[in-house]
Amino acid sequence: MPLNPKIVLKGGKEKHIRHGHPWIFASAIERVEDSPQPGWTADVVSYDGRWIARAGYSPKSQLRARVWTLDAEETVDAAFFERRIRSAAALRSRIGRMDPSGACRLINAEGDRLPGLVVDRFADVLVVQINSSPMEYWRETILDTLQSVLEPRAIYERSDSDNRGKEGLDKRAGWVRGSETDATVDIVEFGAIFGVDVVQGHKTGFYLDQAENRALVRELSAGARVLNCFSYTGGFSVQAALGGASEVLSVDSSQPALDLSAANFARNGLHDDDRFSHSNSDVFKALEALRADKRQFDLVILDPPKFASSGAHVERALHAYRKLSRAGIPLVAPGGLLLTFSCSGAVTPEAFQKSVTLALADNHRRARIVRRLAAASDHVTDFGFGEGAYLKGLALEVA
Ligand code: SAH
Repeated sequence: MPLNPKIVLKGGKEKHIRHGHPWIFASAIERVEDSPQPGWTADVVSYDGRWIARAGYSPKSQLRARVWTLDAEETVDAAFFERRIRSAAALRSRIGRMDPSGACRLINAEGDRLPGLVVDRFADVLVVQINSSPMEYWRETILDTLQSVLEPRAIYERSDSDNRGKEGLDKRAGWVRGSETDATVDIVEFGAIFGVDVVQGHKTGFYLDQAENRALVRELSAGARVLNCFSYTGGFSVQAALGGASEVLSVDSSQPALDLSAANFARNGLHDDDRFSHSNSDVFKALEALRADKRQFDLVILDPPKFASSGAHVERALHAYRKLSRAGIPLVAPGGLLLTFSCSGAVTPEAFQKSVTLALADNHRRARIVRRLAAASDHVTDFGFGEGAYLKGLALEVA
Protein backbone atom coordinates (compact mmCIF):
# COMPACT_ATOMS: atom_id res chain seq x y z
CA MET A 1 0.00 0.00 0.00
CA PRO A 2 1.54 3.40 -0.89
CA LEU A 3 1.99 5.77 1.99
CA ASN A 4 -0.76 8.26 1.56
CA PRO A 5 -3.64 7.84 -0.86
CA LYS A 6 -5.98 10.75 -0.41
CA ILE A 7 -9.68 11.43 -1.03
CA VAL A 8 -10.38 15.15 -1.41
CA LEU A 9 -14.02 16.06 -0.76
CA LYS A 10 -16.04 18.73 -2.51
CA GLY A 11 -16.76 21.87 -0.51
CA GLY A 12 -19.18 21.30 2.42
CA LYS A 13 -19.25 17.52 2.01
CA GLU A 14 -17.35 16.84 5.24
CA LYS A 15 -20.11 17.87 7.65
CA HIS A 16 -22.12 14.64 7.78
CA ILE A 17 -18.88 12.68 8.13
CA ARG A 18 -17.85 14.71 11.16
CA HIS A 19 -21.29 13.98 12.65
CA GLY A 20 -20.61 10.27 12.37
CA HIS A 21 -22.10 9.21 9.04
CA PRO A 22 -19.61 6.74 7.54
CA TRP A 23 -20.57 6.85 3.84
CA ILE A 24 -18.78 8.89 1.18
CA PHE A 25 -20.51 8.82 -2.20
CA ALA A 26 -18.68 9.32 -5.48
CA SER A 27 -20.67 12.53 -6.00
CA ALA A 28 -19.12 14.07 -2.85
CA ILE A 29 -15.55 13.53 -4.02
CA GLU A 30 -13.55 16.26 -5.79
CA ARG A 31 -10.54 14.05 -6.64
CA VAL A 32 -8.62 10.98 -5.50
CA GLU A 33 -4.81 11.10 -5.26
CA ASP A 34 -2.29 8.23 -5.53
CA SER A 35 -4.80 5.78 -7.10
CA PRO A 36 -5.74 3.56 -4.16
CA GLN A 37 -6.68 -0.03 -5.04
CA PRO A 38 -9.96 -1.67 -3.85
CA GLY A 39 -10.01 -1.84 -0.08
CA TRP A 40 -6.97 0.34 0.59
CA THR A 41 -7.12 2.87 3.38
CA ALA A 42 -7.09 6.52 2.35
CA ASP A 43 -7.03 9.83 4.20
CA VAL A 44 -10.15 11.91 3.68
CA VAL A 45 -9.51 15.65 3.54
CA SER A 46 -11.80 18.62 3.08
CA TYR A 47 -11.70 20.87 0.03
CA ASP A 48 -9.47 23.31 1.91
CA GLY A 49 -7.04 20.62 3.08
CA ARG A 50 -8.23 19.77 6.63
CA TRP A 51 -7.84 16.12 7.73
CA ILE A 52 -11.33 14.64 8.30
CA ALA A 53 -11.16 10.85 8.49
CA ARG A 54 -9.51 7.62 7.43
CA ALA A 55 -11.66 5.52 5.10
CA GLY A 56 -11.66 2.29 3.07
CA TYR A 57 -11.77 2.86 -0.69
CA SER A 58 -14.17 1.11 -3.04
CA PRO A 59 -13.54 2.27 -6.64
CA LYS A 60 -16.31 0.23 -8.31
CA SER A 61 -19.13 1.39 -6.04
CA GLN A 62 -21.07 4.66 -6.00
CA LEU A 63 -20.57 4.34 -2.25
CA ARG A 64 -16.93 5.12 -2.93
CA ALA A 65 -15.50 5.07 0.61
CA ARG A 66 -16.53 4.09 4.14
CA VAL A 67 -15.07 5.77 7.21
CA TRP A 68 -12.94 3.67 9.53
CA THR A 69 -12.04 6.37 12.04
CA LEU A 70 -12.35 10.08 12.81
CA ASP A 71 -9.23 9.93 14.99
CA ALA A 72 -6.09 11.11 13.18
CA GLU A 73 -3.94 9.11 15.59
CA GLU A 74 -5.70 5.79 14.86
CA THR A 75 -4.14 3.56 12.21
CA VAL A 76 -6.14 0.84 10.45
CA ASP A 77 -4.39 -2.46 11.10
CA ALA A 78 -5.03 -5.83 12.79
CA ALA A 79 -5.04 -4.18 16.23
CA PHE A 80 -7.74 -1.75 15.04
CA PHE A 81 -10.06 -4.62 14.07
CA GLU A 82 -9.33 -6.43 17.32
CA ARG A 83 -10.29 -3.33 19.32
CA ARG A 84 -13.57 -2.89 17.44
CA ILE A 85 -14.48 -6.58 17.66
CA ARG A 86 -13.71 -6.72 21.40
CA SER A 87 -15.74 -3.57 21.96
CA ALA A 88 -18.73 -5.01 20.07
CA ALA A 89 -18.57 -8.26 22.07
CA ALA A 90 -18.22 -6.38 25.38
CA LEU A 91 -21.39 -4.40 24.62
CA ARG A 92 -23.38 -7.61 23.92
CA SER A 93 -22.11 -8.96 27.26
CA ARG A 94 -23.15 -5.75 28.97
CA ILE A 95 -26.73 -6.07 27.67
CA GLY A 96 -26.99 -9.74 28.56
CA ARG A 97 -26.88 -11.29 25.09
CA MET A 98 -23.77 -13.48 25.41
CA ASP A 99 -25.35 -16.55 27.02
CA PRO A 100 -23.35 -19.43 25.43
CA SER A 101 -26.45 -21.27 24.20
CA GLY A 102 -28.11 -18.07 22.94
CA ALA A 103 -27.76 -15.98 19.82
CA CYS A 104 -27.11 -12.33 19.05
CA ARG A 105 -26.12 -9.80 16.43
CA LEU A 106 -22.48 -9.57 17.51
CA ILE A 107 -21.36 -7.00 14.96
CA ASN A 108 -23.90 -4.69 13.37
CA ALA A 109 -21.84 -3.12 10.59
CA GLU A 110 -22.08 0.71 10.70
CA GLY A 111 -23.66 0.49 14.17
CA ASP A 112 -20.42 -0.99 15.51
CA ARG A 113 -18.28 1.28 13.28
CA LEU A 114 -17.37 -1.66 11.09
CA PRO A 115 -19.18 -0.74 7.85
CA GLY A 116 -19.85 -3.71 5.61
CA LEU A 117 -19.46 -6.39 8.30
CA VAL A 118 -22.29 -8.34 9.91
CA VAL A 119 -21.57 -11.12 12.39
CA ASP A 120 -24.36 -13.13 13.97
CA ARG A 121 -23.62 -15.56 16.79
CA PHE A 122 -25.71 -18.72 16.95
CA ALA A 123 -24.56 -20.45 20.16
CA ASP A 124 -20.90 -21.36 19.42
CA VAL A 125 -21.11 -20.83 15.65
CA LEU A 126 -20.49 -17.45 14.02
CA VAL A 127 -22.00 -16.46 10.69
CA VAL A 128 -20.08 -13.71 8.92
CA GLN A 129 -21.31 -11.52 6.09
CA ILE A 130 -18.85 -9.25 4.26
CA ASN A 131 -20.60 -6.66 2.11
CA SER A 132 -17.96 -4.12 1.10
CA SER A 133 -14.70 -4.03 -0.77
CA PRO A 134 -12.72 -2.53 2.16
CA MET A 135 -14.03 -5.24 4.48
CA GLU A 136 -13.14 -7.87 1.87
CA TYR A 137 -9.57 -6.50 1.86
CA TRP A 138 -9.31 -7.20 5.62
CA ARG A 139 -11.21 -10.52 5.42
CA GLU A 140 -8.42 -12.83 6.67
CA THR A 141 -7.55 -10.46 9.54
CA ILE A 142 -11.20 -10.32 10.57
CA LEU A 143 -11.74 -14.07 10.45
CA ASP A 144 -8.52 -14.69 12.41
CA THR A 145 -9.48 -12.06 15.00
CA LEU A 146 -13.03 -13.41 15.40
CA GLN A 147 -11.57 -16.89 15.90
CA SER A 148 -8.95 -15.83 18.48
CA VAL A 149 -11.15 -13.38 20.43
CA LEU A 150 -14.43 -15.35 20.51
CA GLU A 151 -13.17 -18.93 20.11
CA PRO A 152 -16.23 -20.22 18.24
CA ARG A 153 -16.54 -23.89 17.29
CA ALA A 154 -16.79 -22.80 13.66
CA ILE A 155 -17.29 -19.79 11.41
CA TYR A 156 -19.57 -19.93 8.37
CA GLU A 157 -19.31 -17.21 5.75
CA ARG A 158 -22.56 -16.02 4.13
CA SER A 159 -21.16 -13.32 1.86
CA ASP A 160 -23.94 -13.87 -0.65
CA SER A 161 -25.95 -10.64 -0.57
CA ASP A 162 -26.70 -8.87 -3.85
CA ASN A 163 -24.88 -5.77 -2.58
CA ARG A 164 -21.56 -7.49 -3.29
CA GLY A 165 -22.16 -7.03 -7.01
CA LYS A 166 -22.19 -3.23 -6.58
CA GLU A 167 -18.77 -3.51 -4.96
CA GLY A 168 -17.35 -5.64 -7.77
CA LEU A 169 -17.21 -8.68 -5.49
CA ASP A 170 -18.36 -12.23 -6.26
CA LYS A 171 -20.63 -14.04 -3.85
CA ARG A 172 -18.99 -16.45 -1.46
CA ALA A 173 -20.29 -18.96 1.11
CA GLY A 174 -18.79 -21.81 3.11
CA TRP A 175 -17.14 -22.93 6.35
CA VAL A 176 -14.06 -20.77 6.80
CA ARG A 177 -12.75 -21.52 10.31
CA GLY A 178 -13.04 -24.35 12.82
CA SER A 179 -14.59 -27.71 12.12
CA GLU A 180 -17.33 -28.11 9.55
CA THR A 181 -20.55 -28.82 11.41
CA ASP A 182 -24.22 -29.51 10.67
CA ALA A 183 -25.95 -26.72 8.76
CA THR A 184 -28.57 -26.47 11.51
CA VAL A 185 -27.49 -24.97 14.82
CA ASP A 186 -29.78 -25.00 17.87
CA ILE A 187 -30.11 -21.80 19.86
CA VAL A 188 -32.14 -20.73 22.90
CA GLU A 189 -33.84 -17.35 22.49
CA PHE A 190 -35.73 -15.95 25.47
CA GLY A 191 -36.69 -19.46 26.58
CA ALA A 192 -37.53 -20.91 23.16
CA ILE A 193 -35.37 -23.37 21.21
CA PHE A 194 -34.90 -22.71 17.51
CA GLY A 195 -32.98 -24.61 14.86
CA VAL A 196 -31.16 -22.15 12.60
CA ASP A 197 -30.08 -23.26 9.14
CA VAL A 198 -26.98 -21.14 8.63
CA VAL A 199 -26.35 -22.54 5.13
CA GLN A 200 -29.78 -22.36 3.46
CA GLY A 201 -31.71 -19.99 5.74
CA HIS A 202 -32.50 -16.39 4.80
CA LYS A 203 -29.72 -13.84 5.37
CA THR A 204 -27.49 -15.35 8.09
CA GLY A 205 -30.14 -17.99 8.89
CA PHE A 206 -32.46 -16.28 11.36
CA TYR A 207 -34.06 -12.84 11.82
CA LEU A 208 -32.38 -11.92 15.09
CA ASP A 209 -33.71 -8.36 14.84
CA GLN A 210 -37.15 -9.62 15.99
CA ALA A 211 -35.86 -11.50 19.07
CA GLU A 212 -37.20 -9.05 21.67
CA ASN A 213 -40.49 -8.60 19.82
CA ARG A 214 -40.91 -12.39 19.78
CA ALA A 215 -40.38 -12.36 23.57
CA LEU A 216 -43.08 -9.67 23.80
CA VAL A 217 -45.47 -11.88 21.82
CA ARG A 218 -44.92 -14.65 24.33
CA GLU A 219 -46.09 -12.28 27.10
CA LEU A 220 -49.18 -11.28 25.12
CA SER A 221 -50.33 -14.76 24.08
CA ALA A 222 -51.94 -16.39 27.13
CA GLY A 223 -55.24 -17.88 25.98
CA ALA A 224 -55.05 -16.00 22.67
CA ARG A 225 -55.92 -17.13 19.16
CA VAL A 226 -52.81 -16.07 17.22
CA LEU A 227 -52.35 -15.51 13.49
CA ASN A 228 -48.70 -15.13 12.41
CA CYS A 229 -48.32 -13.88 8.84
CA PHE A 230 -44.93 -14.20 7.08
CA SER A 231 -44.02 -16.70 9.77
CA TYR A 232 -40.67 -17.92 8.28
CA THR A 233 -39.33 -20.61 10.67
CA GLY A 234 -41.94 -19.91 13.34
CA GLY A 235 -40.14 -17.42 15.57
CA PHE A 236 -43.26 -15.55 16.70
CA SER A 237 -45.39 -18.70 16.46
CA VAL A 238 -43.33 -20.80 18.87
CA GLN A 239 -43.10 -17.97 21.40
CA ALA A 240 -46.88 -17.50 21.18
CA ALA A 241 -47.44 -21.21 21.75
CA LEU A 242 -45.04 -21.23 24.72
CA GLY A 243 -46.89 -18.21 26.06
CA GLY A 244 -50.11 -20.23 26.22
CA ALA A 245 -51.88 -19.39 22.97
CA SER A 246 -55.04 -21.42 22.47
CA GLU A 247 -54.35 -21.58 18.74
CA VAL A 248 -51.49 -20.54 16.44
CA LEU A 249 -51.88 -20.35 12.67
CA SER A 250 -48.62 -19.66 10.77
CA VAL A 251 -48.76 -18.49 7.16
CA ASP A 252 -45.78 -18.37 4.77
CA SER A 253 -45.21 -19.12 1.10
CA SER A 254 -41.91 -20.97 1.61
CA GLN A 255 -42.28 -24.71 2.26
CA PRO A 256 -38.70 -25.13 3.59
CA ALA A 257 -39.40 -22.34 6.11
CA LEU A 258 -42.68 -23.98 7.15
CA ASP A 259 -40.94 -27.36 7.55
CA LEU A 260 -38.36 -25.76 9.84
CA SER A 261 -41.18 -24.07 11.73
CA ALA A 262 -42.91 -27.40 12.36
CA ALA A 263 -39.56 -28.83 13.51
CA ASN A 264 -39.16 -25.84 15.85
CA PHE A 265 -42.54 -26.54 17.47
CA ALA A 266 -41.33 -30.12 18.06
CA ARG A 267 -38.01 -28.89 19.51
CA ASN A 268 -40.07 -27.11 22.19
CA GLY A 269 -42.26 -30.10 22.97
CA LEU A 270 -45.28 -28.53 21.26
CA HIS A 271 -46.98 -31.41 19.47
CA ASP A 272 -50.66 -30.49 19.56
CA ASP A 273 -51.43 -30.31 15.84
CA ASP A 274 -55.04 -29.26 16.49
CA ARG A 275 -53.84 -26.05 18.10
CA PHE A 276 -50.77 -25.35 15.97
CA SER A 277 -51.19 -25.29 12.21
CA HIS A 278 -49.22 -24.13 9.17
CA SER A 279 -50.52 -22.85 5.88
CA ASN A 280 -48.39 -22.65 2.73
CA SER A 281 -49.96 -19.72 1.00
CA ASP A 282 -49.61 -16.16 -0.15
CA VAL A 283 -50.47 -13.99 2.87
CA PHE A 284 -52.78 -11.67 0.93
CA LYS A 285 -54.81 -14.65 -0.33
CA ALA A 286 -54.81 -16.33 3.09
CA LEU A 287 -56.11 -13.14 4.75
CA GLU A 288 -58.92 -12.91 2.22
CA ALA A 289 -59.89 -16.55 2.72
CA LEU A 290 -59.82 -16.24 6.52
CA ARG A 291 -62.01 -13.16 6.30
CA ALA A 292 -64.49 -14.98 4.05
CA ASP A 293 -64.61 -17.72 6.72
CA LYS A 294 -65.35 -15.01 9.33
CA ARG A 295 -62.31 -16.06 11.38
CA GLN A 296 -61.15 -13.79 14.22
CA PHE A 297 -57.92 -13.73 16.22
CA ASP A 298 -56.87 -12.08 19.47
CA LEU A 299 -53.36 -11.38 18.16
CA VAL A 300 -52.41 -10.84 14.52
CA ILE A 301 -48.74 -10.43 13.49
CA LEU A 302 -47.73 -8.95 10.14
CA ASP A 303 -43.96 -9.11 9.51
CA PRO A 304 -43.53 -8.91 5.74
CA PRO A 305 -40.26 -8.89 3.78
CA LYS A 306 -38.78 -5.56 2.72
CA PHE A 307 -41.26 -3.75 0.42
CA ALA A 308 -38.90 -0.85 -0.49
CA SER A 309 -35.34 -1.73 -1.48
CA SER A 310 -34.42 1.95 -1.89
CA GLY A 311 -35.76 5.47 -1.56
CA ALA A 312 -37.14 5.26 -5.11
CA HIS A 313 -39.69 2.62 -4.05
CA VAL A 314 -41.10 4.30 -0.95
CA GLU A 315 -44.49 5.30 -2.40
CA ARG A 316 -45.15 1.84 -3.78
CA ALA A 317 -44.06 0.28 -0.49
CA LEU A 318 -46.40 2.52 1.54
CA HIS A 319 -49.24 1.47 -0.70
CA ALA A 320 -48.37 -2.19 -0.07
CA TYR A 321 -48.18 -1.63 3.73
CA ARG A 322 -51.63 0.00 3.66
CA LYS A 323 -53.02 -2.87 1.59
CA LEU A 324 -51.55 -5.46 3.95
CA SER A 325 -52.85 -3.74 7.09
CA ARG A 326 -56.22 -3.24 5.40
CA ALA A 327 -56.42 -7.01 4.82
CA GLY A 328 -55.14 -7.92 8.29
CA ILE A 329 -57.22 -5.58 10.48
CA PRO A 330 -60.61 -7.32 9.85
CA LEU A 331 -59.16 -10.50 11.35
CA VAL A 332 -58.40 -8.81 14.67
CA ALA A 333 -61.26 -9.51 17.09
CA PRO A 334 -62.63 -6.34 18.74
CA GLY A 335 -60.19 -5.48 21.53
CA GLY A 336 -57.53 -7.75 20.05
CA LEU A 337 -53.95 -6.83 19.25
CA LEU A 338 -52.20 -6.17 15.95
CA LEU A 339 -48.40 -6.23 15.67
CA THR A 340 -47.36 -4.81 12.35
CA PHE A 341 -43.81 -4.22 11.07
CA SER A 342 -41.80 -2.63 8.30
CA CYS A 343 -38.14 -3.53 7.72
CA SER A 344 -37.75 -1.07 4.82
CA GLY A 345 -35.05 1.39 5.89
CA ALA A 346 -36.32 3.95 3.37
CA VAL A 347 -39.79 4.06 5.02
CA THR A 348 -39.86 6.38 8.06
CA PRO A 349 -41.76 5.43 11.23
CA GLU A 350 -44.10 8.39 10.60
CA ALA A 351 -44.92 7.29 7.05
CA PHE A 352 -45.43 3.71 8.19
CA GLN A 353 -47.78 4.82 10.97
CA LYS A 354 -49.73 6.86 8.41
CA SER A 355 -50.20 3.76 6.25
CA VAL A 356 -51.69 1.96 9.26
CA THR A 357 -53.90 4.97 10.08
CA LEU A 358 -55.32 4.85 6.55
CA ALA A 359 -55.88 1.08 6.74
CA LEU A 360 -57.78 1.49 10.03
CA ALA A 361 -59.98 4.15 8.42
CA ASP A 362 -60.52 1.87 5.39
CA ASN A 363 -61.95 -0.66 7.84
CA HIS A 364 -63.85 1.86 10.03
CA ARG A 365 -61.82 0.67 13.04
CA ARG A 366 -60.02 2.67 15.73
CA ALA A 367 -56.87 1.66 17.57
CA ARG A 368 -54.65 2.60 20.48
CA ILE A 369 -50.87 2.32 20.30
CA VAL A 370 -49.73 -0.01 23.05
CA ARG A 371 -46.05 0.06 22.14
CA ARG A 372 -43.72 1.31 19.42
CA LEU A 373 -41.37 -1.46 18.37
CA ALA A 374 -37.87 -1.58 16.90
CA ALA A 375 -35.03 -4.00 16.28
CA ALA A 376 -33.56 -5.82 19.28
CA SER A 377 -31.04 -3.85 21.34
CA ASP A 378 -28.06 -5.88 20.09
CA HIS A 379 -28.73 -4.24 16.70
CA VAL A 380 -26.97 -1.11 17.93
CA THR A 381 -27.03 1.98 15.74
CA ASP A 382 -24.65 4.89 15.50
CA PHE A 383 -25.92 8.40 16.26
CA GLY A 384 -24.73 9.65 12.90
CA PHE A 385 -26.30 6.84 10.91
CA GLY A 386 -30.09 7.08 10.95
CA GLU A 387 -30.44 4.41 8.24
CA GLY A 388 -29.37 1.85 10.85
CA ALA A 389 -32.82 1.98 12.50
CA TYR A 390 -34.55 0.16 9.62
CA LEU A 391 -37.01 -2.01 11.58
CA LYS A 392 -40.08 -0.33 12.99
CA GLY A 393 -43.34 -1.70 14.26
CA LEU A 394 -46.51 -0.88 16.13
CA ALA A 395 -48.35 -2.90 18.75
CA LEU A 396 -51.98 -1.79 18.57
CA GLU A 397 -55.15 -2.62 20.38
CA VAL A 398 -57.83 -2.53 17.69
CA ALA A 399 -61.27 -1.61 18.97
N1 SAH B 1 -41.30 -13.05 11.30
C1 SAH B 1 -40.23 -13.91 10.86
C2 SAH B 1 -39.43 -13.33 9.71
C3 SAH B 1 -40.24 -13.05 8.45
S1 SAH B 1 -39.26 -12.94 7.02
C4 SAH B 1 -39.34 -14.25 12.05
O1 SAH B 1 -39.53 -13.69 13.15
O2 SAH B 1 -38.44 -15.06 11.90
C5 SAH B 1 -40.42 -12.83 5.74
C6 SAH B 1 -41.09 -14.14 5.33
O3 SAH B 1 -42.13 -13.81 4.41
C7 SAH B 1 -40.23 -15.17 4.62
O4 SAH B 1 -40.29 -16.38 5.32
C8 SAH B 1 -40.86 -15.35 3.22
O5 SAH B 1 -40.88 -16.70 2.81
C9 SAH B 1 -42.26 -14.86 3.46
N2 SAH B 1 -43.02 -14.29 2.35
C10 SAH B 1 -42.61 -13.32 1.48
N3 SAH B 1 -43.65 -12.94 0.69
C11 SAH B 1 -44.72 -13.69 1.05
C12 SAH B 1 -46.08 -13.74 0.63
N4 SAH B 1 -46.55 -12.94 -0.33
N5 SAH B 1 -46.92 -14.61 1.25
C13 SAH B 1 -46.45 -15.41 2.23
N6 SAH B 1 -45.19 -15.38 2.69
C14 SAH B 1 -44.32 -14.54 2.10
